[in-house]
Parts: sequence; C-alpha cells; structure tokens
Amino acid sequence: MKLVVATHNAHKIAEISAILSGWDIEGRSSCAEETAPDFAGNALIKARSIWRKGGGWVMADDSGLEVFALGGAPGVRSARYAGEDGNSAKNNALLLKNLEGVTDRRARFVCSIALVSPDGREFSVEGFCSGTIGLAPSGNGGFGYDPLFTPEGYDKTFADLPAGVKNSISHRARALAKVKELLADCLT
Ligand code: IMP
Repeated sequence: MKLVVATHNAHKIAEISAILSGWDIEGRSSCAEETAPDFAGNALIKARSIWRKGGGWVMADDSGLEVFALGGAPGVRSARYAGEDGNSAKNNALLLKNLEGVTDRRARFVCSIALVSPDGREFSVEGFCSGTIGLAPSGNGGFGYDPLFTPEGYDKTFADLPAGVKNSISHRARALAKVKELLADCLT
C-alpha cells in the first residue's frame, strides 16, 4: 500500500522505508507554513496539506531538541535557532553559549508524527530520546545537534556513535515504531 510522506529528505525516506517494510513510500513537499507552537501541530499542518491535495495515507513528521534548563528551547525553532540564515554549526554554537555556566545539561529529542488515513482520520504519535548536552561538539556523524547530544546510557554523542546505534534508539525510530503498530491496527 502507498504512503505519502511529507519530506524530500532521502535519509528520512530510507529510514521510514526500512521500518515500514511492505509500504510503498513516496516523498512529497508540503509547502505548508509551520505555524503551530508545538511539534504535533506542525506535523499535522504538513500532513493535512498533502492529504487535501490527493487523499490516500499521508504521514508528516516534525522534530527537534528540547533543553530542560532553557525551558524547552530550541524546541520548534530547532532548525532556525540561530536565525533564518543559520546552520547547524551556528545553532550548536548558540546552544553552547546559552548553556554557559549551566550545570543541568538534560535534554531530549522529540519526534512527532501525524498520519491521515484515506478517509480523513487523523492520528498523532511521539517518540523521545533523552540525554545530555556536552560542553563542546564531538564527532562527525549524523546532523544538526548530534555532536552535542549524548543519549542516556551511552558515553558518546550521536555524532560519535555508529549510525545504526542512533537509528535504533532515536526519537524518530521510536515514533516510527508506534506508526508501524498504528498502521497494523488500522488495517486489521
Ligand atoms: P526536522 O523537523 O526533522 O526537519 O528537524 C528540525 C531540526 O531539529 C533539524 O534541523 C535539527 O536541527 C533538529 N533535529 C531533528 N532531529 C535531529 C537529530 O536526529 N539529530 C540532530 N538534530 C536533529
């Protein structure tokens, strides 16, 4: 069965295809403005905008990093934390600056996934990965905040850990596992 996913990110499509085996995954741009105050709302905005144009099963995700001592920032602004023309290096530098002298380094990645069924039913699931923010970037793998984030139970950052380890414990993997269960329930 076909599942349209609101992304053109080849890495995400590969990860989703691996977990939702048996589904024919097609990436598509949503072009919708992400104006919601939370991840779940933004995921739903993207999924609805694609569903309205063609129906079928549609899925969209929205993810980011929440830092406890910063009241949940960067949160929904994770991609643009250092400004609209920022990048991961600038985002990471700003995060370290904002955490200077802060001893509570707890943080979590969040991934919210919205699904819309062919008959318009809407579902929402979330996956989390808790950990801590380091004092300096470490590692060359991954993307975004990975060089700063050490997941709970490990002593290396996501950027230092093999991709296979990250992909088995990440917020996205955990949300996708819930999607898999949800789709199986809906289709039985
Ligand atoms: P997106 O919603 O998946 O595009 O993620 C938005 C932003 O959150 C990204 O640009 C990253 O800054 C951050 N982010 C989301 N997932 C990850 C991850 O697995 N590692 C590092 N940063 C992430």
